[in-house]
Amino acid sequence: MRARPSITIFLGAAVLAVAPIGVAAAAAATAHATPKRPVIARLVSAPKVIAPTLRVEAAQASPAPPPLNPHDPNAFVDPLDDFHVISPYGFRSGRRHEGIDIKAAYHSPVHASFAGTVLQAGPGLSGYGNTVTLDHGDGVTTLYAHLAAWTVKRGDEVAPGDVIGAEGQTGNATTYHVHYEVREDGVPRDPAPYLSGE
Ligand SMILES: [Zn+2]
Repeated sequence: MRARPSITIFLGAAVLAVAPIGVAAAAAATAHATPKRPVIARLVSAPKVIAPTLRVEAAQASPAPPPLNPHDPNAFVDPLDDFHVISPYGFRSGRRHEGIDIKAAYHSPVHASFAGTVLQAGPGLSGYGNTVTLDHGDGVTTLYAHLAAWTVKRGDEVAPGDVIGAEGQTGNATTYHVHYEVREDGVPRDPAPYLSGE
């Protein structure tokens, strides 16, 4: 028991000698350790951080709006802005007019009236001048004719309202306009119901 006090003193001296650094280090360690605890706690509860990501992925996957129906005329947008009809669909001079003629300011942008894939763009359809034909799926196609220019090529994907060309007077046309056709399984439909009105 006699030696113990001296050992204690020695240890005490050693502790005292180290104290200024050791205490500061210990204090620093404590100071850091204490505020780090909540961080660790947050890391431990990491699933809560991941959860919003999972929710975002779920939000992107599930409430996606149903695809528009190409058989629904109300789902279509106008090929031209501020147009008026200059020739309706139907019989004209004993011949069937398989589309509707709409007119806007010369060289107006022509819009895809529904999402789809470009089947054809440019000249090639006799009398129609430059045309763009879009495939909207499920047998529905649209045609835009007499274009001054086209801005898409075969295979391009288009969204409703995308510019696909410019109104013009190519082919058999007495004035600049867009001859617009809507077909289902190749059978022409009256495009009037597909237009928003003048
Ligand atoms: Zn026409």
